[in-house]
Amino acid sequence: LFPPTTNTTNLVSTSSSAPRWSQMITTTRRHQQHQKKKKQKIVVIMGPTGSGKSKLSVDLATRFFPSEIINSDKIQVYRGLDITTNKIPMHDRRGVPHHLLGDFPTHSDLTPSAFRSAAASAISAVSSRRNLPLIVGGSNSFIYALAADRFNPASDVFHDTHPDPVCPDLRYDCCFLWVDVSMPVLNQYLSERVDDMLDSGMFEELQEYFDSDQYRRESNSAIRTGLRKAIGVPEFEPYFKKFHPRTNPKGNPVRMAVYEEAVRAIKENTCQLAERQVGKIMRLRNAGWDLQRLDATEVIRAAMKKESCGSDSGESWERQVVEPSVKIVKRFLEE
Ligand code: ATP
Repeated sequence: LFPPTTNTTNLVSTSSSAPRWSQMITTTRRHQQHQKKKKQKIVVIMGPTGSGKSKLSVDLATRFFPSEIINSDKIQVYRGLDITTNKIPMHDRRGVPHHLLGDFPTHSDLTPSAFRSAAASAISAVSSRRNLPLIVGGSNSFIYALAADRFNPASDVFHDTHPDPVCPDLRYDCCFLWVDVSMPVLNQYLSERVDDMLDSGMFEELQEYFDSDQYRRESNSAIRTGLRKAIGVPEFEPYFKKFHPRTNPKGNPVRMAVYEEAVRAIKENTCQLAERQVGKIMRLRNAGWDLQRLDATEVIRAAMKKESCGSDSGESWERQVVEPSVKIVKRFLEE
């Protein structure tokens, strides 16, 4: 029905067929604009773990009211271990509806294809209420599965050595916001965050998990599924295999040594996860996905300082991340 969009200049300049072709080219452009217009608009917030994506999603949802948030973190989709998996606490959600967050049973395994369908249904439901869908989470394989126009579950676009080509076309009209943080600063922050998580009850949460019938049933399987993959679970397994889940490591040097080794491994694996996530984001950007980068390095630095000397990171968060994001989303919604 439509002429190819390449070599259009040559085709327009061909004298006898010029009027007909130019008419067809105009029609093609109209068709493309129509297609773009017809696509559902979604905002996608990407970034490594610890960069502030969840906070940004709620800040944007309260400014672009009414919005609803759809989680794209492949571990946070499961029910349970809320501290260990860093799910945004209820009071920080400020009444904004969240979807696919803790909705799936712990033992299931949500594949990227299954996420593609589940998130597409959530987007349809959100837009049928005339609300703006905000997709938020660090799992780029999920974001890719959802947003790529043609998704092949068998291909691995993030493979370390021989990645398959990234699909350049998108099935939604996407506004991608990428919250970036300089790696050395993020690493320091992530390490401190693990200590904060332990202070907030991560170990006690894991004690309960390792002491549950659910875990005992799942641990018989050699294949890790669902929550058993969450950073914190494999790392603490040696501790809970050696000592009864209800034992306290404090005050016992043997238990404390195994506990500290688990904490060290959690810190290391969290930093490695962040590095891999940034690598995957770069892969999408280098393949032509239009990602708008927001630098949150100063905010994270200020947040760490706040811990030690009480300085304020809220003002730099607004100035460096929220305000530029609001401008980008506003422009996108007006297009
Ligand atoms: P993807 O590769 O699909 O984009 P990802 O970047 O979220 O996903 P992986 O690199 O596959 O994560 O994960 C590395 C390890 O970190 C895995 O064991 C994974 O289960 C774990 N992990 C990922 N996200 C979380 C989280 N929110 N909480 C705890 N562990 C996590």
